[in-house]
Amino acid sequence: MNHAAKTELPPAQKAPHAVVAYEHPSAHEGHRCGNCANFIRAAGEKPRCRTVQNPIRAEDWCLRYKEKQ
Ligand code: SF4
Repeated sequence: MNHAAKTELPPAQKAPHAVVAYEHPSAHEGHRCGNCANFIRAAGEKPRCRTVQNPIRAEDWCLRYKEKQ
């Protein structure tokens, strides 16, 4: 289990898109889920976020965006 998976919220505790101003696609240049520290992409699974409800796409964005280090 990697670090991201360990700190992922249970699905019922994740935020709905409306609460985090989710954008599909991102209107914030260079900022998108695929570059975010909260983004989880596991082989054979749909991408998801540590704190926001599915669906999550690499080209999207939300208020909780945090640049991956
Ligand atoms: S931008 Fe928002 S929805 Fe996308 S991975 Fe980051 S925290 Fe999750």
